[in-house]
Amino acid sequence: MKQHQFEVVVVGAGGAGLMAALYASKTASTAVISKLYPTRSHTGAAQGGIGAALGNLEEDHPEWHTYDTVKGSDYLGDQDAIEFMCEEAPSIVYELEHMGLPFSRTEDGKINQRPFGGHTNNDTGRPVTRACYAADRTGHMILQTLYQQSIKNKVTFYDEFQALDVIVTDDGVAGVVALEIATGEIHVFHAKSVIFATGGWGRVWEITSNAYAYTGDGVAITLRRGIPAQDMEFFQFHPTGIYKMGILITEGVRGEGGVLINGKGERFMEKEGYAPNVKELASRDVVSRAMYLEMKAGLGIEGKRYLYLDVTPEMVNKYATLDGRTRPDGTPYRVTSEEILSKLPDIIDFCETYLGINPVTQPMPVQPTAHYGMGGIPTDKFGQVVVDKKNKILPGLYAVGENGCVSVHGANRLGTNSLLDLVVFGKHSGLKAAEYARNSGYIPLPENPAAFAEEQLEALRNSDGDEHISDIGNEMKEVMFDHVGVFRTEEGMSKALGKIRELKVRFKNIKLDDKGSVFNMDILNAWELSNLLDIAEVTTVSALKRKESRGAHARDDYPERNDKKWMKHTLAWLKEDDVKLDYKDVVFTKFKPKKRVY
Ligand SMILES: Cc1cc2nc3c(=O)[nH]c(=O)nc-3n(C[C@H](O)[C@H](O)[C@H](O)COP(=O)(O)OP(=O)(O)OC[C@H]3O[C@@H](n4cnc5c(N)ncnc54)[C@H](O)[C@@H]3O)c2cc1C
Repeated sequence: MKQHQFEVVVVGAGGAGLMAALYASKTASTAVISKLYPTRSHTGAAQGGIGAALGNLEEDHPEWHTYDTVKGSDYLGDQDAIEFMCEEAPSIVYELEHMGLPFSRTEDGKINQRPFGGHTNNDTGRPVTRACYAADRTGHMILQTLYQQSIKNKVTFYDEFQALDVIVTDDGVAGVVALEIATGEIHVFHAKSVIFATGGWGRVWEITSNAYAYTGDGVAITLRRGIPAQDMEFFQFHPTGIYKMGILITEGVRGEGGVLINGKGERFMEKEGYAPNVKELASRDVVSRAMYLEMKAGLGIEGKRYLYLDVTPEMVNKYATLDGRTRPDGTPYRVTSEEILSKLPDIIDFCETYLGINPVTQPMPVQPTAHYGMGGIPTDKFGQVVVDKKNKILPGLYAVGENGCVSVHGANRLGTNSLLDLVVFGKHSGLKAAEYARNSGYIPLPENPAAFAEEQLEALRNSDGDEHISDIGNEMKEVMFDHVGVFRTEEGMSKALGKIRELKVRFKNIKLDDKGSVFNMDILNAWELSNLLDIAEVTTVSALKRKESRGAHARDDYPERNDKKWMKHTLAWLKEDDVKLDYKDVVFTKFKPKKRVY
């Protein structure tokens, strides 16, 4: 066992982890542990943009952004944190620009912006250009920029190290235990502050836009240490994943004028009950549900479980004319093939590679895909982890990015608000973690700091049953996609919970082929599956108990939002054979709950 000491240790090298490390390293010795090489983190896959009311093309205000985010969250987001994020947004985007991020430009050299679902001009209700973008590679550019800056700032990187446990003592957090993937050696990182930034857990579901590494490690590690997970029933299904594969087609396509078409050739989003005003640019929960209902009614393409997303100039221009859509300067909105090519190069490339079709001349077959966890490790707006309904702080522990729950996304996240969440709360958690480190000493490590992590690995290595992890994983993904997906019922979710619990028992009986130490991905995949199973259980129990429909949590048996009973955050604790729930208040500042109309 090797031991290291840093004032601040960040677990995860995506946008959130790197921004936190960059800011922490300004005053504290800082290390980043990452199971992936940093620039392979999922932030690099983010395509569409980062939201900020710069108003570069038309009138816009941070207050409008705040209201849209509150409304998009179906009023479950904490309004103090949302206000803070939206107000910080313009300055943080300029900060990224000054770090060297190559944003796409307007003709007069400003950062270019595009419309995105749920972002509106609050006076007219029409879509507003708020998403700042670098073609369809915005996340890639953020990741590269922040990685360069972190290297420049002398952050120490432990690449391909997998964190397995956080060391929690009676006085607070004392460090992290990680496995060096190349050698199988255990490392203990003694730290004053630990920041979790391990990303999401979309691999719980069969069809997902998420990377293979999205196994919810941070949430599972903290759950096992008695820390609750918040609002786990709210998992976003993005409307447009490539049929059967789940690979994401950015909402930016709809921002550029792409339309959704059913098997009868109708543009169904304009139907009454869906989103007759903003149509394809309604929030994601609304569009995914409309697609689900169309397909359920047999209106998928050829009656199958997919629809078309069409961004061919012919269709875009036809519907732009019907909608009376104009450019911010008042001229009619019309696009050419060249423009589509230059604004969506990666999307066109994906479709040619994976489908053999060219979106400039053909529609794309799409279906909703598991995309984003609104819930996660509960924190305040400085990323400090809070462990009960009274927001009691656990000293020295922080969580940020997709694995954290501030909560700015509430029951449904708006597109472009995750990248924003990463950099705003990444920055503030980095600053707060360094400040805490400056004012406190190292908490002594317990006698055997790696014991719990080693125990988990040994149990996997020594298990000698006849179950394969791939079978268990596939059965989990299928049942979660079918029953804890876009639409939910008591019966379906109960079935899913029964299955997950059965799979957890069967998991104790797995057999791994590789028992060695060097690059043993078998054992790590098994450990990751145990994380996914715990998260699936917590998600399903939280969802079963919430007897209403709100944001991404849509129940056939309770179709209405019920503010009287359910305007509250769920907190879930993982127990030996059960999940314990409690609830905490939502923070309101300016906006009273209203029925959402798009
Ligand atoms: C295809 C796609 C497109 C998207 N497009 C947009 C968009 O246009 N706009 C937007 O706002 N949002 C978008 N999102 C959402 C957004 O990109 C993510 O929510 C966000 O990037 C997550 O960042 P993160 O820093 O929290 O995690 P990540 O970037 O995923 O980083 C997680 C890090 O944690 C590390 N890690 C994980 N587990 C461990 C462990 N056990 N030990 C050590 N390290 C670990 C990984 O190595 C990685 O470095 C998109 C998401 C997807 C999947």
